Amino acid sequence: MDIIQESFAQLYPEKALQHQYLVKYSGRFKDFNAQVRYTPQRLEFRLSRKWRPISKDIQIGLIQELLNKVFRTNVRTTNIDVYNIFIKKLHLVAPKTKSDPLLSASFRRLNGQFFADLLEEPNMVWGNGIRKLGSYEYQTDTITIAESLRGSQELLDYVMHHEMLHKQLKFSSNGRRACHHNAEFKRRERAYPHAQQLERQLQSVVRRRRWMRMLVG
Ligand SMILES: [Zn+2]
Repeated sequence: MDIIQESFAQLYPEKALQHQYLVKYSGRFKDFNAQVRYTPQRLEFRLSRKWRPISKDIQIGLIQELLNKVFRTNVRTTNIDVYNIFIKKLHLVAPKTKSDPLLSASFRRLNGQFFADLLEEPNMVWGNGIRKLGSYEYQTDTITIAESLRGSQELLDYVMHHEMLHKQLKFSSNGRRACHHNAEFKRRERAYPHAQQLERQLQSVVRRRRWMRMLVG
């Protein structure tokens, strides 16, 4: 049994896999990213090359997470739990190579004010995405902040704080949907000074740029 059959059989013991399938390890993906493309006949799993040497148990969890997405199911397995633990620990080994003085200054201000200086500095980059004002990627331990926030320290700090909460609180996962904004996340975000007013200002940044909608990832 190969890794796809094994993942499928554990996830859906009563079904048989009808699709043709393929697994590709690619050097073009960012570290530990993965995706699945699918049609009614065919599944194509593309995994970052970094996955290749990782233990099979963890790779099975990853494949099962992707299968849950394809088949819109919400099945939990031990492998998925182990996979999620692995993803949450990746920041410990992710190389820290990307920094920027303005982003770093923002991170340090907030780390002192809201996180008791407990967070380790992640990779930080400016992004030119048109829909996202900020994001945190667990796999590479990277905070990305939209270039459009460069001019406003207040808004930059507010979005940075959101991404730092992601880094600190990680996510709670129950199968298909990982919850990234849980109750504690929302409480702490609301407690940020002048949060409501800053939210409104962010929306006007978004409108001015004619963005479809704001997505703080
Ligand atoms: Zn978020």
